[in-house]
Amino acid sequence: MHPHALEILKKRFDVVYQPEIEQEKVVSVVSDADAILVRSKPRIDAKVIENAKNLKFIGRAGVGMDNIDINAARARGITVENTPRATSQSVAEHALALILAACHNIAIGHESMKKGQWMKTKLMGIELKGKTAGIIGFGNIGYTLATCLRALGCEILAYDVVDISRKADDVGAKVVDLQTLLRSSDIISIHVPLLDSTKNLITLKEIKTMKPTCILVNTSRGGIVNEKDLYTALKEKMIRAACLDVFEEEPPRPDNPLLTLDNVVLTPHIAASSEEAQIRAGIELAEKLVSFFSQKT
Ligand code: NAD
Repeated sequence: MHPHALEILKKRFDVVYQPEIEQEKVVSVVSDADAILVRSKPRIDAKVIENAKNLKFIGRAGVGMDNIDINAARARGITVENTPRATSQSVAEHALALILAACHNIAIGHESMKKGQWMKTKLMGIELKGKTAGIIGFGNIGYTLATCLRALGCEILAYDVVDISRKADDVGAKVVDLQTLLRSSDIISIHVPLLDSTKNLITLKEIKTMKPTCILVNTSRGGIVNEKDLYTALKEKMIRAACLDVFEEEPPRPDNPLLTLDNVVLTPHIAASSEEAQIRAGIELAEKLVSFFSQKT
C-alpha cells in the first residue's frame, strides 16, 4: 500500500501492515481483522476467509481478483472491492514500453553492452508505425493501450467476449474474432482476467496461427499463455518475440527456460507499479474502506 493510503487508514483504523507477508502466515495475521487489503500477491482463499471470524471487507488495490476467493467471501456476506481503473494507464504504458523494447531490441542491446559487446550490425529492429496490433480483452487496459498504439500509427484489431463495438469505434479499432486477430496481427497484447475460461487461452495451437514476425505481449496474468508452449515457439523462432510481465509461478524458478532466451523482454510483474497508479489505487481503496465502515456505524 502506498504511504498516502496508509496515512488515511491509520487515522481511522488499527492497521497491521505486512507488505512482505509469507502465505503461511496470512491465516494467523488476519484472524481478528475486520478488513483485509491486498495487492496481487497474498492469496485470500477459503481457508483464510473461514478463519477470519470478524471479516467484513476484502479490498484489492488494483484490478485482477484471482488471488481472492470471491465465492467464499460472498457466501459469508463479506464485501469485496477493487480499484478497476486506478492502474489502467500504467499497465497500458508498460505494455507499450515492452512492445517498443521488442521492436527496437532495447533489452538485448542493453544486456549485451553491459557484457562489453557492441552488437550494432546484428540487431535490426522494426518500426511500430503501420503495424497491426491485436488486443485480446478490450476492457480498461486494452482500450487505453489501443489509444496509445493508434497515436503511434498502428491499425487496431480488438477481440472480447462482450460487446465492445462502441469503444472500438471510439478509438478506430476493428472488432474481429479471435482467429482473425491471431492470424492478422503483427503485435498481440493480452488484457483479460485469469479465469477458468482464459487459462491457456494461448497454447502452441494458437501460436502456430500467428505470423512468424509476431510480437506476443502478456501483462495480464501468468497461465493465460502456456509457458511451456511459448518457450517451444520462441526457441523454434515461430514468432519474433514475447514480452512478459507475468508468469505462471512468481518469481519464476531460476531454471525456467524462458529466462535463457534472447527473443524475450521480461519484467517482474511491475506493470502497475508506478507512483501515480499506486497512489490512486491505495487512496481509492482506503476511501472505500472508510466509507464502508462509516455506513455501518
Ligand atoms: P477489465 O475488466 O476492464 O477488462 C478485461 C476484459 O477482458 C473485459 O472486457 C472482458 O470482457 C474481457 N474478457 C474476459 N474473458 C475474455 C476472453 N476469454 N476473451 C477475450 N476477452 C475476455 O480489466 P483490465 O483493467 O483491462 O485488466 C485486465 C487484466 O490485466 C486484469 O484482470 C489483471 O489480471 C491484469 N492486470 C495486470 C497488472 C500487472 O501489474 N501486470 C495490473 C493490472 C491488471
